[in-house]
Amino acid sequence: MAWECGIDGCGAVFEDVESAVVHQATEHQRRECEVCGTVVPDGYLAIRHAFTEHSRAEYVRAYGASSEEVREREELLEEVASVADMQAIATELKR
Ligand SMILES: [Zn+2]
Ligand SMILES: [Zn+2]
Repeated sequence: MAWECGIDGCGAVFEDVESAVVHQATEHQRRECEVCGTVVPDGYLAIRHAFTEHSRAEYVRAYGASSEEVREREELLEEVASVADMQAIATELKR
């Protein structure tokens, strides 16, 4: 399965999800969380931050997301969590 970076129409494609997440965290600018102002890597890690640190209601309020967008992001989080080696990603990002 190929993983495509969806940030700002980037479109870079990776063979494994770990490479895609590391790409998002290193090649793209970090962004501020709209809820708490913490600077987080863009892409998957930004979504993971928002959905683990904040409630769905806070996310919807801060990002103006529709319930469908929330559902899509929840699905993405589950999908990535089921296949990604988060330890490998964390190790890669610490270099
Ligand atoms: Zn990208
Ligand atoms: Zn936050």
